[in-house]
Amino acid sequence: MKFNILTIFPEVIDSYCNTSILKNAQDESLIEINAINIREYTEDKHNTVDDRPYGGGPGMVMKPDPIYKALSENDSLKGQKNKRSLLMSPRGEEFTQEKAEQYSDLDEITLICGRYEGVDQRVADHMVDGELSIGSYVLAGGELPALVVTEVVSRLVSGVLGNPESLDEETYGSEDIEKGEYPQYTRPAEFKDWGVPKVLLSGNHKKIKEWRKKHSK
Ligand code: SAH
Repeated sequence: MKFNILTIFPEVIDSYCNTSILKNAQDESLIEINAINIREYTEDKHNTVDDRPYGGGPGMVMKPDPIYKALSENDSLKGQKNKRSLLMSPRGEEFTQEKAEQYSDLDEITLICGRYEGVDQRVADHMVDGELSIGSYVLAGGELPALVVTEVVSRLVSGVLGNPESLDEETYGSEDIEKGEYPQYTRPAEFKDWGVPKVLLSGNHKKIKEWRKKHSK
């Protein structure tokens, strides 16, 4: 599966994606993450990506034309089979584990990161398949949201997690979304005067299973 991330800060994306799970998944060619620098698709000599809002008001707005060029040259304009292009936006549809599961069946997902006061409305209206929010709060840019989406979806791509069982066992696991996750402990069995529940040390798998079921949230 391929992720295109359109941003004016590709180094932020590269830095995060070159660590841990996302790095391993790329090394094994299970996923491809392509940080695309919007500035490289500008045509003026100052490489302008933003401009003042029509009608006045504070801050700057990201221009539509470099984003259009970046999308079209990377074959990511809206409406393509098995691909989805999404604008990261606090006003978008909420990103959930369920959405991530749907996205994990796609061949390609393209995420556009806004900055400043936001993005010219024509991007949302004409260039993408939808707008996606990671929660009801406002960040300074779409890079963290795009990384959240990339990581959550990547974990669902077959082979990305070393042990596929861990997907089913955890909170919002794919098998049973209601099931939730139980508390986990590791060594030492006594730390300060905080112990580990005795049943987990008992080796009695039936009892352990019951305990975990009872304590799942
Ligand atoms: N003025 C805008 C906010 C702009 S924040 C408003 O009030 O709606 C700048 C950029 O950060 C946005 O264009 C978007 O790409 C990203 N962003 C901020 N919060 C986000 C969130 N909760 N989910 C997804 N993207 C977000």
